[in-house]
Amino acid sequence: MQTYKGRFEPTRFEDLTVTVDFRCHSACRFCIVQEGMNYFKGIPFELFQRAVDDNAKNRRYRRVTFTGGEITLEEKLFDYVAYARESGGFEEIRLQTNGRLLADSAYARSLVDAGVTEFFVSLHGHDAETQDYISQRSGSFDEAMAGMRNVVDLGACLMTNTVLITLNQDVLSKIVETVAPLAPSRMEFWNYLPMEDPGDERGLLAPMAELAPALRGALDGCAKHEIEVLVKYMPRCLLGDHGETLDNAQPDVVIVEEFYDIYPKFACLYEAKCEYAESCLGLTHAYIKKFGWDKELLVAYPRTTPWQEQEDGLIFGSDQPGFGTVGTPSSDSSREGAHQEWAALVEGVAEATGAVLTDLVLQRRSCTYRFEHGASRVDIVLEARDEDGPALVRTPSFNVHYRNAEGDQELLRQIVAGAVKSVEARDPGGMMLDLRKGPVGPDSVRRRPKRRLPVKTGD
Ligand code: SF4
Repeated sequence: MQTYKGRFEPTRFEDLTVTVDFRCHSACRFCIVQEGMNYFKGIPFELFQRAVDDNAKNRRYRRVTFTGGEITLEEKLFDYVAYARESGGFEEIRLQTNGRLLADSAYARSLVDAGVTEFFVSLHGHDAETQDYISQRSGSFDEAMAGMRNVVDLGACLMTNTVLITLNQDVLSKIVETVAPLAPSRMEFWNYLPMEDPGDERGLLAPMAELAPALRGALDGCAKHEIEVLVKYMPRCLLGDHGETLDNAQPDVVIVEEFYDIYPKFACLYEAKCEYAESCLGLTHAYIKKFGWDKELLVAYPRTTPWQEQEDGLIFGSDQPGFGTVGTPSSDSSREGAHQEWAALVEGVAEATGAVLTDLVLQRRSCTYRFEHGASRVDIVLEARDEDGPALVRTPSFNVHYRNAEGDQELLRQIVAGAVKSVEARDPGGMMLDLRKGPVGPDSVRRRPKRRLPVKTGD
């Protein structure tokens, strides 16, 4: 069986990312969609509209992020932004960008005027020599810096993103010093995921023995400048005093579905021993293949509770730049009100049976209600409706079933029957769980012109 880390679906159920197109004017050496660039199609506007309309009705997401390729090259970007803004369903509209076109202050202003509130700008070097080498475009560093200054002058939210690779591991602290005068709302550091290069032929995977101390130095620098930080895909035990900055959540993504086929797998030798096994991903399989398990380097935090194979991923809290710690899974109270429409589906069931609804776990493909009554417990699970999958009952939106039934059989029967009846009566239809909503098959790619083989003429 695949370990928990190998099937991690790190969804933060409040952010929607829309991959508008796969074109870019830079050519970053670590790009994880390099092979898909100019080949995958972006999301058709109608599909985007459907997701926005759904959100206006069901309020699933607080933020929509537009990404690519390079989103600022997209001619229809203003149409996308306008539709999102006019829907009234999002508090924040974010662009994930290399920042180069933001150097044009009039263009940056027009984006802010259109409704963009947050700019998540890639910065992979501390100077032109490093950044331009990584992006393979001269001038890209100066343009990104000018773009970020414009964002700050316009009063919009600025965040930076640095991908951790061999080419910048030695200058991470310098990147912090370069960005600090701009006082960004947050700096993010994402360890490189070799999605298209599992053998690391590009030589970009940085060994933890070198990368981890360099990153800790950069995180110290952020702390000194009081810059909020978020780190992804690093072993938590290598972050020193900055362990709480680890946040492996990802937004829901509307993207060509082939993208999921190459999402990397993770593992850690100490998974069953470590207190943070459920939130830390450990190392990618590609890294382990190249460098081994790093068993002398990683240090398991002693567990305070026995380890159990996880059935659900973590529940992640809010991703609001400027509001402190980002990596902490949300407690029940911090999620208060976040999933009201899902809680409403089983409202009154616990009270009617004397049970307690101890948790509601909303994830990419399922919504789980955990009921307990003394020593008895049962989970009610909703998954996207399909006609073939196993189900106790099918409602307009869901296949409903139960699992982990333990204890008093009659009591459990009452809870399950009550929950099923409640969901049947209240499911309005159209509540989405299965996030496989991007284009699939031939429609997801651009047709490439057929090459004609040279016609041989007679000898
Ligand atoms: S021991 Fe493994 S699971 Fe624990 S923090 Fe380190 S890498 Fe993560």
